Amino acid sequence: MNIAIPCKLIHPDNQLASYQAAVNENPHNERPTLTAGRSKRSIGSWQKFWGHGRVLTISFMENLPVNLKQRIEKLIRQWEPATNLTFKFDDGQAGEIRISTTDDVSNSYLGTDALLVPSDLPTLRLGIDPDHVEFDLTVLHEFGHALGMQHEHQHPSANIPWDVPKVYEYYNRHFQWTVEDVDKNIFNTLDVSTSLKGPYDKSSIMHYEIPNELTLGNWEVGVNTKISKLDRRNMRKAYPKL
Ligand SMILES: [Zn+2]
Repeated sequence: MNIAIPCKLIHPDNQLASYQAAVNENPHNERPTLTAGRSKRSIGSWQKFWGHGRVLTISFMENLPVNLKQRIEKLIRQWEPATNLTFKFDDGQAGEIRISTTDDVSNSYLGTDALLVPSDLPTLRLGIDPDHVEFDLTVLHEFGHALGMQHEHQHPSANIPWDVPKVYEYYNRHFQWTVEDVDKNIFNTLDVSTSLKGPYDKSSIMHYEIPNELTLGNWEVGVNTKISKLDRRNMRKAYPKL
C-alpha cells in the first residue's frame, strides 16, 4: 500500500476577503490581539468557524456509486453531534462544501474560506482510493478542516522534537514538497489566538503521522484513525450547544 499523500490546507490568496467572510458568517471568529500593550485588531488572527446553528450544505461534484456516497456521508456525520450545525447532503445544488474525488491529493479549505471558492470548483478533495487503508481517516480529517479545525501537529504547545533536515528531505523525496510546503504545513506553529487553547493532542485526527525517523530521540505519532475525545471537545468549543 502506498503512503497516502499528506494533506495540505488550501489558503485563499485574498486574506482580507477571508477575514470578512469569516466575521460576517460568525462574529465569534474575530480575535482581537494585543500588540505593544495596545489593543489592536490585526488581520492575521481570526478563526473560520461556521455560524452557530446553521444548516451546512454539502454536495458531491461527481457521480459516485451510491454506496460510496453513503460511506462518505456516514463518516462526515460522525462530526455532526459535536457541532451545533445541521449537515444537509444535497447533490441537486452546489453545496457550501463541495467534495471532489478526481484529484490525486486530499485537501480542503479551512471552514468559512470555502465561501470564497467559485461554485463550480471543489472546496474539499479526497484524492485517495476508497480501498486505501487510510480512506476513512482522510474523510474525517478533511471534513475537520471544512469545519474550521487546523493541523494538530502545528499546535502552539506541540513541541515536537523534529529532526529538521530529515523532515525536509523526507517530504521532498516522497511527495516533492518544497521547503516552503514543509514550513507551512509542518513546522509553522499556529497563532495562539486562532487555536482553541485546548491541550495538545497526539491522538487527534487532525495530526499527521510522524515516523520516528523524523524526530530526535524516541518520538513518533502513529496513524490516527478516529476522531479523538479532545477533537470532539474542541469541536464543541467551536460550536457550543445553543
Ligand atoms: Zn490536513
